[in-house]
Amino acid sequence: DEEPSDVWREYQGASTGTDIECEGWRQEAALRMLNNNLDPEVAEKPEELVVYGGTGQAARTWADYETIVEELRELDDDETLLVQSGRPVGRFPTHERAPRVLIANSNLVGSWDNWEHFHELEAEGKIMYGQMTAGSWAYIGTQGILQGTYETLAELGRQEFDDTLAGKIVVTAGLGGMGGAQPLAVTMNEGVCIAAEVDEKRIERRIETGYCMEKADDLDDALDRAREAAEADEPYSVGVHMNAADLLEGLLERGVVPDIVTDQTSAHDALEGYYPSGYTVAEADDLREDDPETYRRESLATMERHVDAVLDLQEEGAIAFEYGNNIRGQVKEAFDRDDAFDFPGFVPAYIRPMFCRGKGPFRWAALSGDPEDIRRTDEAIRELFPEKEGLLRWIDLAQEQVEFQGLPSRVCWLGYDTDDEGLTERARFALRINELVAEGEIEAPVVVTRDHLDAGSVASPNRETEAMKDGTDAVADWPILNALVNCAAGADIVSVHDGGGVGIGNSLHTNNHVVLDGSEQAAETARRVFTTDPGMGVIRHADAGYEEALDAAEESDVAIPTRDR
Ligand code: NAD
Repeated sequence: DEEPSDVWREYQGASTGTDIECEGWRQEAALRMLNNNLDPEVAEKPEELVVYGGTGQAARTWADYETIVEELRELDDDETLLVQSGRPVGRFPTHERAPRVLIANSNLVGSWDNWEHFHELEAEGKIMYGQMTAGSWAYIGTQGILQGTYETLAELGRQEFDDTLAGKIVVTAGLGGMGGAQPLAVTMNEGVCIAAEVDEKRIERRIETGYCMEKADDLDDALDRAREAAEADEPYSVGVHMNAADLLEGLLERGVVPDIVTDQTSAHDALEGYYPSGYTVAEADDLREDDPETYRRESLATMERHVDAVLDLQEEGAIAFEYGNNIRGQVKEAFDRDDAFDFPGFVPAYIRPMFCRGKGPFRWAALSGDPEDIRRTDEAIRELFPEKEGLLRWIDLAQEQVEFQGLPSRVCWLGYDTDDEGLTERARFALRINELVAEGEIEAPVVVTRDHLDAGSVASPNRETEAMKDGTDAVADWPILNALVNCAAGADIVSVHDGGGVGIGNSLHTNNHVVLDGSEQAAETARRVFTTDPGMGVIRHADAGYEEALDAAEESDVAIPTRDR
């Protein structure tokens, strides 16, 4: 079962156009999104079913993938398919407005919820790591994370500099599925990016897809080019072929302090994500195979050096933040180092105020495969939200600079804020798209989904819910309620995962899809889901005592029983 399936080879990505092979568009959308996740243009290692984020998979095995495809082709309009860690395990008659697919990936019971037990089960083929959008069939390539990274850095620019990163040097690492967005997000904010990456092919891939400008094998060479660009206030990015810990220590040795330091290596997984220093990628891959214990030990030792270097650079004046890969948590746990958390995570620093208003990364894909359909949705954003300058700047930049991977798609941040009719921002947008599909201005249905990193859909104490005001960082009732209420609201796919972003046992999070096929039923679903889903962000943060969320609830008339009575 290790060999890629012939069915997948035939698809090589999502089908496009208006002819469908399933019973309806809701099932067809699930099939196309699954195949889009495994499109060689989209996924990092599709031949191993790996989509992104270390080992995040779309299906457990190739046999499971083929069965999912067959099931989706036959699934009736009143049936629901159940997928457990990438394996289709059941199909029940439900009803037309129920979800067509329900997914649970990587979940373990509290005391067993750790990598060790997970890897044992994984080796026996009993579980799969779903990451976030990998196992829920909502990954759209690097663009998905690009806007989040752009927003985070833009907020940093607003808080620390003159609304821009012009003339500033950002040092980071990891040019994988998500980390690969960093150089472009920096240059979109007019700054300079130096990114360490051990795998030369990853640097080349980012250059080919326009996310990174140049490659360097030597730190001095990269530094010369970066400084020259920063002095001239010119956007510039370079991928440096070396280990992140070595690069940061190299800066300290040279007395060079960047303006900003962060990281997106897959440190959440010491064995299968992060590379130890002192090995080429091939040597490290062999070591992992032959002696996983030594690999893990070396990997954690490099992480400790990496974190120490970040702390030293912060001490010297760099702005340091963790970009959600749990490198602080790994070092704290392995070496009992509480001081690993002496630099903040990006959510409390830059994202939480947006979460309080139900704002989060919302994305949509054109099932037609026609880029023109996305251009039309970009126009809809401009028509609906003319007052949102930052959003419009993003849409302009994205149209100009983002190359589509797989199905044409777009991402932006919209939230709960309601209009005179009580429609949330997300609902207004989705309803407009549904109209455009109904009118034939958009050729085929559009599927709207999102990252699991959203306002009310995740509990992750080292990342999205780090340092919550009321100390409820680890309370996981919220994502579970989010999935339940989105089922009740009739989303087309609903999923619940463990361990995305920060590793098994460290997070619980959910996702959903709504297929806008132009029908009245789709409009009703959109109205409901795009109220309940961002609404969970507002109530979660209001419950934790955030003023911004309490204000948002008041302004948008969100019912909060404990406040209302
Ligand atoms: P990925 O596995 O596709 O890529 C990781 C990259 O890091 C690989 O290219 C690998 O070669 C490189 N790498 C590993 N160790 C290295 C080292 N020591 N030095 C230099 N390069 C090294 O993963 P991804 O999808 O890009 O995600 C990266 C990490 O960032 C994950 O832990 C993910 O969860 C996290 N992340 C979080 C957020 C967020 O919080 N919003 C966003 C993006 C990524």
